[in-house]
Amino acid sequence: MAKKIAIFDSTLRDGAQAEKISYSVEDKWKIVRAMDELGISYIEAGNPGSNPKDLEFFHQVKGNELKCAKLTAFGSTRRRGMQVEDDSNIQSLLFANTPVVAIFGKSWDLHVKNVINTSLEENLKMIKETVMFFKKEGKEVIFDAEHFFDGFKSDPEYAFETLQAAVDSGTDWLVLCETNGGAFPNEVYEITKKVVRQFSTPVGIHCHNDGGMAVANSIMAVKAGATQVQGTFIGLGERCGNANLSTIIPNLQLKKGYVCIRKNQMIRLTSTARYVAEVSNVALNTRLPYVGKSAFAHKGGMHVDGVMKDPRSYEHIKPEEVGNERRFLMSEVSGRSTILKKIQKISPELQKNSKEMQLIMDHLKKLEHKGYQFEAAECSFELMVRKLLGKYKPFFQLENFTIIDEQPMQNGGISSSAIIKVNVDGKHEITVAEGDGPVNALDRSLRKALEVFYPELKEVHLTDFKVRVLNPEAATAAKVRVLIESTDGKDIWTTVGVSTDIIEASCIALVDSIEYKLTKNIEKKFKASM
Ligand SMILES: [Zn+2]
Repeated sequence: MAKKIAIFDSTLRDGAQAEKISYSVEDKWKIVRAMDELGISYIEAGNPGSNPKDLEFFHQVKGNELKCAKLTAFGSTRRRGMQVEDDSNIQSLLFANTPVVAIFGKSWDLHVKNVINTSLEENLKMIKETVMFFKKEGKEVIFDAEHFFDGFKSDPEYAFETLQAAVDSGTDWLVLCETNGGAFPNEVYEITKKVVRQFSTPVGIHCHNDGGMAVANSIMAVKAGATQVQGTFIGLGERCGNANLSTIIPNLQLKKGYVCIRKNQMIRLTSTARYVAEVSNVALNTRLPYVGKSAFAHKGGMHVDGVMKDPRSYEHIKPEEVGNERRFLMSEVSGRSTILKKIQKISPELQKNSKEMQLIMDHLKKLEHKGYQFEAAECSFELMVRKLLGKYKPFFQLENFTIIDEQPMQNGGISSSAIIKVNVDGKHEITVAEGDGPVNALDRSLRKALEVFYPELKEVHLTDFKVRVLNPEAATAAKVRVLIESTDGKDIWTTVGVSTDIIEASCIALVDSIEYKLTKNIEKKFKASM
């Protein structure tokens, strides 16, 4: 029978400690629900002792049932030289009222002596009494042995005593933390193996990525017998981040036969990673294994040719298995057959030598001559093809717009306004919106006008905006290419516009972005009705 691995997500604690990351109570809820839907076993939702926002969250959670995940509060062993009951952090942890608590304690003598400045014996007592306290309160206790691997290298006997202290008090789990992130996979394997041999309590692993090996280290710990893996879903965490669960889960489940999440949930992996990035307000690394936008993108001519003949030639798994998709990038090297493949997504009956194909190729050449490049803006390409093939229904017309640039206020506030007039089936709508710069104002104003007719546009917003000057030697007449990346929280799409005027180029890309979203929505509705 396949071995079950408990997955423990700490995006809301380790992830929240990453540079530039901050979660509101609402954001936390969104991530908890997404993790629960996916079938994650434990969700660590914060440290109620150190953060009042976390405590507030736990209060709201009370009474809200999760489908499969157990909510976990995180905190330290009691402070030195006091009774467990008198420690306010311990009280907050209890007050959080979660079924599971993760208690971290020191396993490295260096930390005991130089950081918390206490004796080795007192540290063992702190572990013992804290674990015992929460066991008496009826909690499932996860003991996180902080810096366990460094501790083992420094004084193996003492590192084991810290685990023994937790075991003696009835801990449910021993989690070995690779806190400084500098260990190697073979070390993690060997040390974990020793722990698994010594203790009958289930063992978990918690790795940081400072040496770029957090995923490899976690997997080696599982090979050594660990049955719980801690990490953050898209790898967010202090310094270089934590072990990335969106990589570990498919590695273990699809390649090694372990069970981490429910089988039918694996296809949600990519959309969940994008959603977590969205809520965290970061751009998901496009090169992330399994879930990145480029994870199954082929560009080199021979690669494209190979994948078309047999996808296994350049793909380690089927992208659909994790809910991602195969992409063929357009470039001079991959040529006509790549473009045909893309066009066939819209018009499957079209062949290499048909006259429509020629029409598209001619038009493409013209646009490329103007400075368009569709490699990074496939959605604009798709719209162009739909329009040429008569497979596009116009949703609106942008009749005109005016941008008013204002002098920035002393406080650096709003700097531009855009007035826009759109026509939808003969009905006119005029709106004005302010923005941080002309493009932002234009985007807001355009969507505000169109939301009246298409409320689904409320979900859409820009995530990236890139400008490239194409012929800088032409000085003021230089052309610019604007790339705009948009999202509705589920999908991400990129569109392009080219002009000698940056506002006009942006406007072309913005209009494409909205047209693309509306076209996709109609397609989805159509599919759902079939
Ligand atoms: Zn950590």
